[in-house]
Amino acid sequence: PTIGVVRETHDGERRVALVPKIVPSLTAKGFDVVVEAGAGLGALIPDAAYKEAGAQIGDAWSADVVVKVAPPSDAEIARLGSGRRLIGFLAPRNADNQIGALAAAGVEAYAVEAIPRISRAQVMDALSSQANVAGYKAVLVAANESTRFFPMLTTAAGTVKPATVLVLGVGVAGLQALATAKRLGGRTTGYDVRPEVADQVRSVGAQWLDLGIDAAGEGGYARELSDDERAQQQQALENAIKGFDVVITTALVPGRPAPRLVTAAAVEGMRPGSVIVDLAGETGGNCELTEPGKTVVKHGVTICSPLNLPATMPEHASELYSKNVAALLELMLDENGTPAPDFSDEILAEACVTRSKETP
Ligand code: NAD
Repeated sequence: PTIGVVRETHDGERRVALVPKIVPSLTAKGFDVVVEAGAGLGALIPDAAYKEAGAQIGDAWSADVVVKVAPPSDAEIARLGSGRRLIGFLAPRNADNQIGALAAAGVEAYAVEAIPRISRAQVMDALSSQANVAGYKAVLVAANESTRFFPMLTTAAGTVKPATVLVLGVGVAGLQALATAKRLGGRTTGYDVRPEVADQVRSVGAQWLDLGIDAAGEGGYARELSDDERAQQQQALENAIKGFDVVITTALVPGRPAPRLVTAAAVEGMRPGSVIVDLAGETGGNCELTEPGKTVVKHGVTICSPLNLPATMPEHASELYSKNVAALLELMLDENGTPAPDFSDEILAEACVTRSKETP
């Protein structure tokens, strides 16, 4: 069977779905890897590196399984054609997703977002691998925008107090943000609506902010808050946020708009020169004053809403994603080394969002 590694065309997307390092393990499993010319360039990987690793440069779109990062455009779906398999981020919970178009085109598509979050699937968990990148980079964005130091400095010219950093929403991205801010010398605090997160927050040297709201939902995710809970949360956060130099927000509820955690009034209450980095811009933002994709200054507070942060670190983001993709590919093989997904396996059953009539 052939695996096609295609060139990403989405604006700003610099990642690639398979890096050369992973190719030998796939060829050892009997796959032929075909790479579209220039597929790795965004991640600084030349075609020659793929060839050295045992891949060919050629028509990746005709492969049995096409692997991608960003959701395919209409033109890309037309190139895929009937009977192909596709693995990638397909945004299955977004209203404007391409799942219907993929089904109509006869493509058997696997959305990495739909992989269940069970221990066995951890190695394939692309949401986690990329959230880690985003959480790390969010802190660097904040530090870059900040007018203050993160660490405490004791110098002949005086002592500088450490920055206080609050992370709202402590899933994978939030936990990495706390750890990264700590490494930079910040004084860190974490908040989430899933009480089980408290121990994880403490384990990375941060304080736990308890607002008494428990909204643990299914599958390790949060549920949406009721109107009353939301009002209570916004009020409590408005009081808490005042004391922080940096606020990083990562709160998401699957399939829903991002929860509004930081009101305009809360921003107004912050000290001028403070920074908010909102990682939830893609679904509307956690801060009322966020403008997705932009950096704005409101009431003296800099509010950044970078989109697709993992694409800004394409080397390591691609490397981690490749591991996820390779693990899913291996799971699709039957005992003869042929891709023949066994849909009694919950990982494949849930990840597969369109079933083709033509694929066996
Ligand atoms: P996510 O991206 O869906 O959400 C980010 C965080 O926002 C979550 O912690 C969520 O509780 C929080 N949140 C949602 N609404 C909120 C609100 N109103 N106020 C404050 N916080 C709010 O989450 P994620 O990073 O994908 O991870 C969710 C959980 O799944 C984590 O606990 C993680 O450890 C677990 N997980 C398990 C596996 C596995 O077992 N395979 C893999 C990855 C993640």
